[in-house]
Amino acid sequence: MLKTVQTSSNKKTGPIAVTYRAGSCDTFSTCPKTCQLHPRPDTGAVKIDSDYLAALLAAVPRGGQAWTYSHFPAELLPVAEPGQTVINASCDTMDQAVAAWSIGRPAVVAAPAGTEWAGGVEYKGVRFVRCPAELAEGFTCQQCGGGRPLCARSDRDYVIVFVAHGPMAGKVGRGTAGGCYASSGPTAIQWHKTRTAGAPDDAAELLRFASSLPAGSMLRHHVAGDVGRE
Ligand code: SF4
Repeated sequence: MLKTVQTSSNKKTGPIAVTYRAGSCDTFSTCPKTCQLHPRPDTGAVKIDSDYLAALLAAVPRGGQAWTYSHFPAELLPVAEPGQTVINASCDTMDQAVAAWSIGRPAVVAAPAGTEWAGGVEYKGVRFVRCPAELAEGFTCQQCGGGRPLCARSDRDYVIVFVAHGPMAGKVGRGTAGGCYASSGPTAIQWHKTRTAGAPDDAAELLRFASSLPAGSMLRHHVAGDVGRE
């Protein structure tokens, strides 16, 4: 099930286009059961939805940029060609992020609450850079990278760090299940609505949506959800 929003009111992304993707039986079931942040891993996906993945790669606004994140193993994620959606490998640990980076995947990592790396750190020879939206009030993805958001850069030579925040933050990086930022608050409300009221043919709806956006738009796929097959 897919929900599309042409102009998001999300404080982090800024007013860009976004989507949410949910399972039809369980909101979390497009997310892999191996994700450490998954609050109900038994309902998670085992495989990637290949039809949806093909649509995702192609779903870039004309002359624009698109990116997303996936908790599936990095080696299963395609590397974007120019003009395709950049799929970042979402990692639970710095070692996982180094491994993803070393096989050529753009990687991000969720760091435990309280991590302080305003200036970034180097770990095992890889640079880790904090998401700039976490360092400046009011800064959004729309402003990131001077019009070329860091997460939309497939060939970057650093890992982006997101420090856990919000009510579930205490679970991130502790080796226990749960901690997904989208499992509570306004994001969870939008995501659960996607399960009941989203478009059932998510691949077709995504392609329609991307092609309907104004030229040069930014599209962040899956504020919540992943590429799994329910
Ligand atoms: S690094 Fe930039 S594009 Fe990525 S989430 Fe942060 S602000 Fe958005």
